[in-house]
Amino acid sequence: MDRTIGELGVCGQSSEMNIAWIGLHKGEEPPISKEIGSGTIFFTGCSLHCPFCQNEQISSFHTTFHTLVSEEELASYMIELQDIGAATINLITGTHFIPSIRESLIIAKERGLTIPIVWNSSGFESIEGLALIDDLIDLYLIDIKTLDEKTSVTYCSYKQYPNVIRDVVDYLIALDKRTYVDEEGSLFGLLIRHLVFPSSLKSTYEVLDYFSTHLKERAHLSLMVQFINPKERTGEPYISEKEYNELLDYLDKLGIEDGYVQELEDNVDWIPDFSKENPFPPHFASPLASFLEKRGTIQ
Ligand code: SF4
Repeated sequence: MDRTIGELGVCGQSSEMNIAWIGLHKGEEPPISKEIGSGTIFFTGCSLHCPFCQNEQISSFHTTFHTLVSEEELASYMIELQDIGAATINLITGTHFIPSIRESLIIAKERGLTIPIVWNSSGFESIEGLALIDDLIDLYLIDIKTLDEKTSVTYCSYKQYPNVIRDVVDYLIALDKRTYVDEEGSLFGLLIRHLVFPSSLKSTYEVLDYFSTHLKERAHLSLMVQFINPKERTGEPYISEKEYNELLDYLDKLGIEDGYVQELEDNVDWIPDFSKENPFPPHFASPLASFLEKRGTIQ
């Protein structure tokens, strides 16, 4: 299949860059969102098809939430986000559009884009693709969803995810980027995000062990406990207080200190609705008006 002639990849997209939503978003870890929010760009499509994806409206193979955006236009949106105070440019699930994103970043930087660039990804990446943008990325915000094949089949649809993420982590380690927070509170380097899946604590402990062995000295960890089943939209916690406290104790035992742990009571019982101008609660996010204008309000 050749995406450059319009054929669709497993991500559901050709090589033409489609974007689902752009705006300010306060829901990321503190150094990414800060006070005003991250300059968030949700790309359409995804090469994983997780059965419990919260962004299924925009990630699925048959999504209708796509606005064709040129490299020049994306560069302009990035500059606008910076102008309205965005703390970062937060590129969400851009894997399948890397060549276009690279071009946009180069144009935007030539026009004065200076805020940190965050590569926010499931980690289901090709090394070849990542190598194309390394020089433009300030922070890799990468999921390690699981290292267990069975859990991967259940929650990521693919048995191969653990092998892919191991290779990606090895590659990122080899880049030898330093992870640090600068004097303005921005995070650079590598932030690994892990979400606890229901009935999968064993898989979580395996990820924490792996993090401790391979990444503790060079990355920060973001441990999330707020899994929402999009079909049920339940706000009930999937782990007990006892299990949560045991996880915290285990982090202590492993000496994992740098990063963020989501509060158990931080339960959120909504998922984004991309059919709205603002898919998120108003205190969480606000859309970029110029992108909305291009997108139109009806999908
Ligand atoms: S990787 Fe993320 S965006 Fe893609 S299907 Fe899985 S949860 Fe959804």
